[in-house]
Amino acid sequence: MSLKEFDIELSKIRNGQNHYTYRLEPAFFENFDNHTVKSSNMEIALELDKSDRLVNLRFNIKGSLGLDCEKCLAAYQQPVDHVSFLIVKITDEEQPKDEEDEIIYLSRKENCFNIGQHIYDFVLLALPFVKTCTEPGNLPECDREMLAKLELLSHPDTNEAEPDERWSKLKDFLSNN
Ligand SMILES: [Zn+2]
Repeated sequence: MSLKEFDIELSKIRNGQNHYTYRLEPAFFENFDNHTVKSSNMEIALELDKSDRLVNLRFNIKGSLGLDCEKCLAAYQQPVDHVSFLIVKITDEEQPKDEEDEIIYLSRKENCFNIGQHIYDFVLLALPFVKTCTEPGNLPECDREMLAKLELLSHPDTNEAEPDERWSKLKDFLSNN
């Protein structure tokens, strides 16, 4: 799946509202060297509102990705439902260094930009920080005892930083076993 598909050529677009739909195949993610996506049922509905100097893009990102649970390694479907925005300024001004990433500066000569990287970033932002199957510990794939041990190993400093009843219970549990 080539990223060329995500080129936006402004000269071919009339001013006003325009609608596009993209389907993301697993190969889309390989363009970014991401091999964690095993399957993809993702649809991006893009509303593009164009005027002479400004293009507003609204991405409605919906569907699911087949990932591996980071806790029990079982394959699961991660639902994704997210809205992201991008603004393109058509100007010969330079983009200020401190300006946010969500604004693209495009000179009048350029006329074309690619939204592939942006879509990739938006999808990743829409994913939870820790990617786990639903209700870890309640599914047969997720072994509760294993999860408890992994949790403790992955947060070695937690009991110093914030004393938490759960951690001392876990420690007792582990030391009694
Ligand atoms: Zn799991």
